[in-house]
Amino acid sequence: YVAHDYSPLSPATLPDRLGGLAVLGDRVGPADSWQVREVGDGNLNLVFIVTGSAGSAVVKQALPYVRLVGESWPLPLSRSFFEYNALIRQEARDPGSVPSVWHFDEVQAIVVMEYLTPHVILRHALVEGRRVEGLAERLGQFCARTLFRGSDLSMTAAARKADLALFAGNVALCDITENLVFSDPYFDAPMNRHTAGLDGIVARLRADLSLKVAAQHLKMAFTSRAETMLHGDLHTGSIMVTDTETKVIDPEFATYGPIGFDVGMLIANFLMAHLSQPGHEARAGDRAGQQDWLLSVVEGIWETFVAEFSHLWRTERRGILYQASLYEDQGHALGSEQALSDVIGRIWVDTVGFCGVEMHRRILGLAHNADFERIADEGRRAACEARALAMGRQLMVGAASMPGITALTAMARRMD
Ligand code: ADP
Ligand code: MG
Ligand code: MG
Ligand code: MG
Repeated sequence: YVAHDYSPLSPATLPDRLGGLAVLGDRVGPADSWQVREVGDGNLNLVFIVTGSAGSAVVKQALPYVRLVGESWPLPLSRSFFEYNALIRQEARDPGSVPSVWHFDEVQAIVVMEYLTPHVILRHALVEGRRVEGLAERLGQFCARTLFRGSDLSMTAAARKADLALFAGNVALCDITENLVFSDPYFDAPMNRHTAGLDGIVARLRADLSLKVAAQHLKMAFTSRAETMLHGDLHTGSIMVTDTETKVIDPEFATYGPIGFDVGMLIANFLMAHLSQPGHEARAGDRAGQQDWLLSVVEGIWETFVAEFSHLWRTERRGILYQASLYEDQGHALGSEQALSDVIGRIWVDTVGFCGVEMHRRILGLAHNADFERIADEGRRAACEARALAMGRQLMVGAASMPGITALTAMARRMD
């Protein structure tokens, strides 16, 4: 180990390597009291839980390759820098929404942060049929606050442009999204896979020209419309919960993009949780209550997002967009309210489209989700996934004519 060279940690080496860090001494206790476990279950990074006589911490370290695939797929360590920068901005924009960050080491690609306990990954809780109090409100607020406060609606032009430039460096992680989300699902890309039994449906989707155009329109929006700092990977595997608390983790995909991207990806994951529930039923109808709750979460996320975004619009619109003086000058006191409802309408159309594409890529692409994967019976899994594929297509092609959130949840109910 050379002091200025990157080297991956292991549970055996971590106390020696990080034992001198004051913040870990304070938070966890002396290094000779530490116990270290590696718990990373994600696709990309190492995650260590360090416990000692004074407390605990999480040490997240990037690897120079994609963990899920191996050294054959290199990925820059700089993703740790973007994760750190996103976490501190999310904490400032929505205090308490993310784990507290205690230390960042750029050379070692390490973020030291609060260990969330007894939190579990939301996706696993949903597969088990568990509910979380206040979930929709917390997530709707997180989206509204981080997305509004990272945009030209709120920031000074200089600060916003500096952040745009900073996060523009996250090229490799954006490239993953650009390919895996927006393109690979729609042709026979090498890393794709899908459940046996879906071949016919998959072939029809890949021959569907309107769908492929819709996917590329969404991709162009993602690559070119730098509206705000996105979390970039806001699915139910990036959320940790107790019965009453919700925290967001893992923003290494952060980049500037369209506001509707995070909201759409998030809602898609609740719709997939809903559509996968029948696959987890011991007896038909067992999960009907859970399904209703999941759709109430979808509605609650959007309704809270709109309410909080509107509140911020009315009270914190200090950026360079839609200035009140534009309207008040002409005596149109309600002009900025009209502009607000128009802006929310545009975000809604984006949200619906991104929601659809996320539903497709989780079934057709490389990265599948436990909601469907944990359905052991392939026939049952294929039946659930087929409904999600059909709904995803309707959302992508029909985004502009989707009237509102209750029409969207009604569509999900009709898919059953
Ligand atoms: P990756 O970028 O590889 O997906 P994540 O940040 O999602 O890594 O972390 C992987 C896993 O580690 C999570 O699913 C969670 O179980 C655990 N984890 C990550 N951060 C924390 C934290 N702050 N507190 C507790 N557990 C965490
Ligand atoms: Mg993750
Ligand atoms: Mg990650
Ligand atoms: Mg039903």
